Amino acid sequence: MHKTAAILFWIFSFVITVHASDPVDKNKVQKQPLKRVVIDAGHGGSAGAAGKFYGASGKRMEEKDVALAIALKLQATINAEMPDIDVIMTRTTDEFNSPIVKANKANAAKGELFISIHCNDVNAIRHSEIVGYTTKTVKKKGKKTTKKVPEYRYWTSPNPASGTETYIWGVGKTKDKEEALMENNFSDTAILVINQNENPAMKMINSLRTQEFAHRSRRLAEAVEEEFVKSGRLSRGAKQRDEKGIWVLQAVAMPAILVEVGFLSNPEEEEFITSEDGQQKTADVIVRALKRYRFSLEAQQSNGKSAEIKK
Ligand SMILES: [Zn+2]
Repeated sequence: MHKTAAILFWIFSFVITVHASDPVDKNKVQKQPLKRVVIDAGHGGSAGAAGKFYGASGKRMEEKDVALAIALKLQATINAEMPDIDVIMTRTTDEFNSPIVKANKANAAKGELFISIHCNDVNAIRHSEIVGYTTKTVKKKGKKTTKKVPEYRYWTSPNPASGTETYIWGVGKTKDKEEALMENNFSDTAILVINQNENPAMKMINSLRTQEFAHRSRRLAEAVEEEFVKSGRLSRGAKQRDEKGIWVLQAVAMPAILVEVGFLSNPEEEEFITSEDGQQKTADVIVRALKRYRFSLEAQQSNGKSAEIKK
């Protein structure tokens, strides 16, 4: 080979090799940033021994039924408008599953995003007023005396609390999320041979992934609430519930949000979220936020500037 040709060939193959092994370029071509979304209709089934998971009750419908109706509409809308996304449902009927079973389902399906649908409720406001007095005879040290005793009327009125809110797991629960990642994401790799929990490199990777997931969850939660406002709903904001946490959000090894779609205890809001139209509008809001979320992941991937953590 001619000397110049040999040098050119050498440079050419060097460039090819570098390109072939460049993971960013590979991602650009091959990786779709959001392929599998898990939708979780909150609660389900009959109360029984599992009463604590039963959820809120409105005058027209119960939370488990509203959550399922909206979750099914959300599934149908994603299928129609984002057909390249696989939707995994934690339930499609009125069945009871503990949050543990639901989280396991989401993790086994290798979901890349978890969206849980719930409804809020608050206790009615209690009122009382004195409507009259009765006299009571009491004996005190052998002496009979009469005493005036007030009579009360008690009643309740609906609590006016209303609006939507979207939760992510609390920062105080980050350890749990890291554990969920430890247990779920690397189970099929050789790395498992080493005791994961003792491996500082794995700890570091999972802590970075947890940070990235927290960031993504917050971004989606904020988009959902912004879209609710655009649709004319009242938003109570994107929040985290720190002390109590939300178990299922910590237990899934993926970004996760919980959408409280409205208050069943508010008659006007109950009418909206129990109507076909209101349920579809709610699903549409979440899909619009989901499109913005996916777009931001694609942008993040193609500019390659953020610490995109591969899954
Ligand atoms: Zn609930």
